[in-house]
Amino acid sequence: MATHYEVLGVSQDATAEEIKKAYRKLARKLHPDINPGAEAAEEFKLVTRAYEVLSDPDKRNIYDQTGNENGTSQGFGGGAGDFGFGDIFEQFFGAASSGQGPIPRTSRGRDALITATIELQDAVKGTVYPLDIETAVTCPECNGTCCEPGTHPETCTICRGRGQVQRPVRSFLGQMMTLETCSACRGHGTIIPSPCRECQGQGRIRERVSKQLKIPAGVATGTRIHLAGQGEVGPGGGPAGDLYVEIDVKRHAVFERDGVDLHAAVTLPMTAASLGTTVKLDTFDGPQEVTVEPGTQNGHTQRIADLGVPRLRGGGRGNIVVHINVETPTKLDDEQRELLEKLASLRGEEFAEGRVENRGGFFSRLKDHLNSR
Ligand SMILES: [Zn+2]
Ligand SMILES: [Zn+2]
Repeated sequence: MATHYEVLGVSQDATAEEIKKAYRKLARKLHPDINPGAEAAEEFKLVTRAYEVLSDPDKRNIYDQTGNENGTSQGFGGGAGDFGFGDIFEQFFGAASSGQGPIPRTSRGRDALITATIELQDAVKGTVYPLDIETAVTCPECNGTCCEPGTHPETCTICRGRGQVQRPVRSFLGQMMTLETCSACRGHGTIIPSPCRECQGQGRIRERVSKQLKIPAGVATGTRIHLAGQGEVGPGGGPAGDLYVEIDVKRHAVFERDGVDLHAAVTLPMTAASLGTTVKLDTFDGPQEVTVEPGTQNGHTQRIADLGVPRLRGGGRGNIVVHINVETPTKLDDEQRELLEKLASLRGEEFAEGRVENRGGFFSRLKDHLNSR
């Protein structure tokens, strides 16, 4: 592979002025506006690359010492693909002639994110949520064409629809032609002679839109529902962006949610816990009888299977977990005190001093309790 010096046809000790002169001569011959062939374009890139390195004293120094511009000793491999061709090109010829066609008038609309706050019941059973959003919709007057009804965009006469015009520029290479964005049509290649009055030629208008959003059972706070193509219509009546609805589930008076399980607490008088009872619990699937066995202890938990929250994926439902709190009676009157003392006596508990539990039992119950929360 030729060195940068060979590419420019100069000697290793060429002065900055000699390098510049050599590049100018080659660029005049190979510049794409003068010499449109693919081969010339490749050669022009190499010449420009060589000049870029050799005209910068630091880069030239590194190049002279290492044989490449990165200061590594890997040689020239893969160097041609990643150089900043644009910079030096612009330096000489002004705005780069990008060679692209007209700039489209339309572009995609923005995505939108809104929050839907729902009750826990709606998260468990699913619901239809009324969305009321301020958004951009296709202008009904011009149907997104941006033109007054009955009129059409016209091809720009300045750039003949290309969106770019050639302009002569003086550079140190001499008189060159360069391409720049047509200012008459702002690069669109067309002109709208009578912009739609309804949307001021934007092709879209702002409007409040109501939709009914189906929210599936099982959503949780933070769940996002993606509605493709239901965001804002783009400029020039362009395709709509997407709408994201983020779910926010309100706190419930009775149930605390943990994943797909619902936790509820039931407080019972000591007597009921001892004798056994039933408790009515209003679930999202109607009232449920919770049977409390005689001798139920404080902290006991009881499951109602499959009445928790449905799984969004995979099917099935979690459980309801009922936590039993046993309430010790307070403010005893004389008769109640007598009865309790009698009970204690009958149970041989009149001088009971309590007992220190061994660690295993207490801590495993504590762990169960913490895990179940
Ligand atoms: Zn319009
Ligand atoms: Zn134009």
